[in-house]
Amino acid sequence: EEYDFDDQSKDYQPSVDFYKVEAVLRPWRLSPVSSALLKMGIRGVTVTDVRGFGAQGGSRERQAGTEYAGDSYLKKVKLEIVVSKDQVEAVIDTIIDQARTGEIGDGKIFVSPVSDIIRIRTGERGLKAERMAGGRAAMQTSAEGSDGN
Ligand code: ATP
Ligand code: GLN
Repeated sequence: EEYDFDDQSKDYQPSVDFYKVEAVLRPWRLSPVSSALLKMGIRGVTVTDVRGFGAQGGSRERQAGTEYAGDSYLKKVKLEIVVSKDQVEAVIDTIIDQARTGEIGDGKIFVSPVSDIIRIRTGERGLKAERMAGGRAAMQTSAEGSDGN
């Protein structure tokens, strides 16, 4: 299988096949973000409860007072999503669409290069390990097929 990793992608440096998209978000935006990612074929996601300090500092959430941590670190969730290069921008766009309120404290997204991916069950590496059944690449392939391409 040949995939064009340069398609739809920015000039990420250093240039590798895979990137990790890490997003620190308001906990109450996790559900809509997750749903939208799943809808677009992103099935491999790791979520961690974290606490953080940014421009929002320790100031109380306007939308959800329960977020106040008491020691000036606010409860956030961190999503980690490893995808092939051509899927990075779509993942970022989806996260922003679903997570943004426009208020201070919406969070931040970090993109970093990933050297390799290994599926423990099979020992597969690289693109074979990145691709998942029913994943985005499979969805796009079947969409092209139904268009007669
Ligand atoms: P298998 O087919 O063996 O189940 P898989 O690719 O579906 O392999 P899992 O072993 O089901 O992967 O994944 C275990 C955990 O690894 C997931 O619950 C998730 O937290 C994390 N994970 C898997 N793929 C990714 C990914 N691409 N990005 C971020 N986290 C991932
Ligand atoms: N990009 C993979 C695929 O197309 C899915 C990876 C992921 O869900 N993180 O199958």
